[in-house]
Amino acid sequence: MATTTNKDYYATLGVKKTATAEEIRKAFRKLARKYHPDVNPNDKKAEEKFKEISEANDILSDEKKRKVYDQLGFYSDQIDPAQAEAYARQQSAGGGRGPRVDFGGFDFSGFGGGVPGQQEGAGGGWGSFKDIFSGIFTGAQHERQPRGPQPGSDLEYQATVDFWTAIRGGQARIQINRQETCPTCHGQAHTGGPMPCPECNGTGQVTQMGGRMKFNIPCPRCNGTGRTANACATCHGEGTVTRSETVEFRIKAGTRDGQRIRLQGKGNAGANGGAAGDLFLIVRTGAHPVFNRQGDDIHLSVPVTVAEAALGAKVEVPTIDGRAQLKIPPGTQSGQKLRLRERGVESAQHAGTRGDQIVTVNVMVPHLQDERSREIMRELATLNPDDPRKALFEKL
Ligand SMILES: [Zn+2]
Ligand SMILES: [Zn+2]
Repeated sequence: MATTTNKDYYATLGVKKTATAEEIRKAFRKLARKYHPDVNPNDKKAEEKFKEISEANDILSDEKKRKVYDQLGFYSDQIDPAQAEAYARQQSAGGGRGPRVDFGGFDFSGFGGGVPGQQEGAGGGWGSFKDIFSGIFTGAQHERQPRGPQPGSDLEYQATVDFWTAIRGGQARIQINRQETCPTCHGQAHTGGPMPCPECNGTGQVTQMGGRMKFNIPCPRCNGTGRTANACATCHGEGTVTRSETVEFRIKAGTRDGQRIRLQGKGNAGANGGAAGDLFLIVRTGAHPVFNRQGDDIHLSVPVTVAEAALGAKVEVPTIDGRAQLKIPPGTQSGQKLRLRERGVESAQHAGTRGDQIVTVNVMVPHLQDERSREIMRELATLNPDDPRKALFEKL
């Protein structure tokens, strides 16, 4: 447990407890000039000292803070001067173990007691004291509230779906890891019990130290009940276990890449009877060696011969539902795109509509193997003497 000793700010600044505001200001200025990090670069000790005097100045130069400090021997934002004064009054009237003063629900009994063997923890000091202080004030209050049903968190997975399944629809499956209600304790997180809480030995209270003060706070482990149950061995007291599970899901015909599917209640299990979260699947549609799907359209490249491209032809091309006739107009150029209307994917969004198939013509130039073919080609060239690069030069 982090503990801290109180500090003598008057000694730090080298002033008397009766020092005036002006005396404190002068003392701080003098020390600040000596220990300022700008004057002592890379000097850890000076830096530490500068922090100490700044802290002392921060408290003592503020009338309200100084008053609290004078009364309690420490300062915290959580305490106002009136409370501190009330405490000091009761302290001097009661004597002995001292009366109990309630600071926002906490027992300040044992003030002034001092604790043998108390140490300044690593990184301790004022900062950690403040942390302890605010921690128990805010922490303990909500710890006491019984925890109600907590919904499970949602999960998100990418699900790769086969090219054809995405187009035609069907069943797909994915393996996921999800938190399930523990089968041993049925989400109770414990088995057997109740038994005395090991943290507070069944008293329901634990003592925290803050400076010279003892805080009796409700035990965080048992929420102040003093009793605890055996943590379930299967789920280590979590109430849930992580399980790998294969989830089957339905794919609508025409499902596109990136589409989200929500599977209600297939996320992580809730706690204390809370509903399970949802599972969100981001569909990644698989690729195909011939067809390239873009939305509802199918793209593909089709090789045609020089003769087919020049003379025009009817060629057979593959589509996602079998062969189809494609008309190549005379004079078709390589790279030209031809459209087969409504031969694409059936839309998942708009029932009854389909995308197109877009064919990119790829004119194959023959490797001429014989003299006769070369002769014909030369003759063809003579008959068609137009320079295809002419337009290029005209535009220069
Ligand atoms: Zn306890
Ligand atoms: Zn369990």
